[in-house]
Formats: sequence, structure tokens, C-alpha cells
Amino acid sequence: MDFFGMTLASLENFFHQQGENKAKAKILFKSVYRNRQAVENIAEFSDKTKQLIMDNFNFDLPKQVTMQDDGKTAKALLSFSNGNKAETVIMRHDYGAGLCVSTQIGCSMGCKFCQSGKLKKRRDLTAGEMTSQVLFMRQYCEIKHISIMGIGEPLDNFDNLKDFIEILSCPYGLAFGGKNITLSTCGIIPQIKRLSEINCQFNLAVSLHAPTDELRSQIMPINKKYGIAELIETVKEYSDNYGKRIAFEYILLDGINDSAENAVQLAELIKGINCYVNLIPYNETESSEFKRSKNADIFFDTLKKSGVNAIFRREFGTGIKAACGQLSSEYD
Ligand code: SAH
Repeated sequence: MDFFGMTLASLENFFHQQGENKAKAKILFKSVYRNRQAVENIAEFSDKTKQLIMDNFNFDLPKQVTMQDDGKTAKALLSFSNGNKAETVIMRHDYGAGLCVSTQIGCSMGCKFCQSGKLKKRRDLTAGEMTSQVLFMRQYCEIKHISIMGIGEPLDNFDNLKDFIEILSCPYGLAFGGKNITLSTCGIIPQIKRLSEINCQFNLAVSLHAPTDELRSQIMPINKKYGIAELIETVKEYSDNYGKRIAFEYILLDGINDSAENAVQLAELIKGINCYVNLIPYNETESSEFKRSKNADIFFDTLKKSGVNAIFRREFGTGIKAACGQLSSEYD
């Protein structure tokens, strides 16, 4: 079994089934995740317990295929044990580093502006493969924040995502607090309704990118299945129930969704929700049919005048193709 895919509860269950004290699970979590110890060096365990652990669990990290680092952003292409590859990115802010984690090999959402979706989804990443991206990258720098915003649609891989967040936030292990975890989704409504199953108060970001169904369906095929009105209602309900401030992500695409009128429509749409708008400068991709907006300032000002809280996303890693929408994965 892949150790990094085990939640604390499943590890406790393992020890229990082996006729061992389940308290060993917490010790093992703490030793591996906090103290970064190899099993053979865990002083609390007898040789027999160490052997039991080593016979049953695999602690292998993915292999680095390439690593590009421009000083501010580092992007690694990682090869998982079955051969598939995916990219993961570190962004170094003044206040600490954030890691952008991938959740699938390829992506089936087909958003027109995104490179990651050019390769259809081959498979979901396991919880262990998501955790291992964190463990791999923390060898290079201390990670303060996790963005679940890499390749893939996290809510299209709900069960593995749930285990991953549980492992990530477990106080005996990596101990990331909910405020240091952000999940971004293109809006799979039934799965947004299931978010309460995840026992962690993480931040929710929603890739909106357009204020009307007509426009959104043109650039995000998922909108044909789950339209804007229902999406906004579901997100509002989530925000109200959990007292959470939602981030609406909005890529400004030249001549497509960036008019002052679009800004007014957006403001109207999200009125009454505890939220802010994260404006994203468009990053060119290989088969780019879109251009970066020239109207960003007017859009921003119009939003502000309409009473919306908006910020521009800071740019990271365009030079090494590590920015939003530029990541890719490989099948072998
Ligand atoms: N599937 C999830 C998370 C991955 S994408 C989602 O859709 O939210 C992370 C963010 O980058 C999303 O808001 C996505 O729409 C945005 N993005 C995709 N392609 C982009 C591009 N070329 N330039 C800028 N942002 C992009």
C-alpha cells in the first residue's frame, strides 16, 4: 500500500486489524510527516513494528523528470510509479511559498483557454500521488499554502481529493490549516454540494470567467451541463452555511468577456455573496486563440464602482510555462 494515500483513520484501522495498538498510527504520522524520519529510525517502535510497517507500506516519492526554476517559480515534471507524469509548481511569495497541486493526468473539462485540458483525462491521481507532490516539493522549500489548482478538475476526483485533504490537514501530520488550503473548481454542482463531507474549512475558488450562460458555455463546456444560475445559488448556499468568503476567478480575455458591460453583469450576478473576484491575466498557451485583455483597468474600475471587491492575481512562472493554464501532463 502507498503510505502517502493513508488517512490517519485508515492507518489506525490497519494497526487494529494487525492486533496492534492503534495509537501507533499517530506516532507513525508524526514521525514521517513532521519529523521526516525514515521508519527504521523511529525510536518508539520495536523492530517487529518497523518490519510490519515496511512489509506493508511503500514510501516512494515520485521521480523528478525535469525541474525548472526561475528563482521565484519552480516547476517539476514528476513521474508517478505507473509511468504517468504531471507537473506541480512552487510559487515563492514574500510571506512564504505556495504549492499548486495537480489532481488528474489530463483533464476532461475542455475549457477553451487552458492547455492542461488539451490532453483528455487519462486517469485520476490517487490521494497518495497528491500528497507526494507536497512531500516532493517540500524538500526544496517550506510550503505555507496549498492551492489545489494544478492539472485536472479536483471535484471530478472527489473521493481521492477528500482523502488528500484529510491527510494534508491532519494535525498529527502535515497539519495544514483550512485557511492555508485553496480548492479551485470549474463548478461541478453535485460535488460542490458534497463539500461538507470534507472535514476541513478550506477556501473555495470558483472558475467563473463569464457572467452569462451564453458566454460561459462558449469557453467552458461544463456550463452546458451546470448553468450559471444554479452554480451561483449553490456557491452562495455553501458560503452562507460555512461562513466562507468565495473567490470567483475571472480570466480577462480580449474582446470576449472584458467589456465594462460584462463587469456590470458580473457585479449583478454575485451581489449578496460573501466573495471577491480574482482577476487573472490570460496566459498564452501553445494553441492560443485568445489574447490578453487591454481593458483590464476599466473592467476592474467598473467592478469596484459596482461595489465588488476585486484583486489582480499576481503573475508567476509565465517564462517557464508554469502559470495558470500552462501546465501539462503526459501519458507515459
Ligand atoms: N479545474 C480547476 C482547477 C485548475 S485551473 C478549475 O477549473 O478551477 C486553475 C485556474 O487557472 C482556473 O481558474 C483556470 O480557469 C485558470 N486558467 C486556465 N487556463 C488559463 C490561462 N491560459 N490563463 C490564465 N488562467 C487560466
